[in-house]
Amino acid sequence: MRYLTVLFIIAAVVLFVQCSNAQKKDAMNDEHKNNPYYSRTDTKKLNVSNEEWKKILPKDVYAIGREAETEWAFTGKYWKTADKGTYYCAVCGNPLFKSDSKFASSCGWPSFYETIKENSVTYKVDKSHGMVRTEVNCGRCDSHLGHIFDDGPPPTHKRFCMNSAVLEFEPEAK
Ligand code: FE
Repeated sequence: MRYLTVLFIIAAVVLFVQCSNAQKKDAMNDEHKNNPYYSRTDTKKLNVSNEEWKKILPKDVYAIGREAETEWAFTGKYWKTADKGTYYCAVCGNPLFKSDSKFASSCGWPSFYETIKENSVTYKVDKSHGMVRTEVNCGRCDSHLGHIFDDGPPPTHKRFCMNSAVLEFEPEAK
């Protein structure tokens, strides 16, 4: 009898975990149901006009991703996040950063010292606002993500200074 009870509890836990994973997946699909370009596995480069993105993306994602705006420091949803997981492009789903490369930076934006792959992002000289900076864009959809600086920690000494609004964090499955 005790054996049966234990078996029942295990079955219930397995069922619960499966259900909550399915719910998470549904939530993600729901969030991107109007975005036919969103994929976490497709690596094909996208060439989508801003006119089209404007119809698809939430306002803040469009403003930062497509018009290179910057969110206020210490206001984004991920600047303090220290959980284990993966950060994807909120515009197209491209995997960008692992939480292992995220570090606590005092700048107020989520900061990483390296991307998942070399071609996860592309770089462009940005001479706006009277400064010369290196802009970081998504390697798949070319959306603006933030800038890169040379004051990061080892091993790369780089600081990818990103906007939370164009990132999407997926916690590691427990
Ligand atoms: Fe992207």
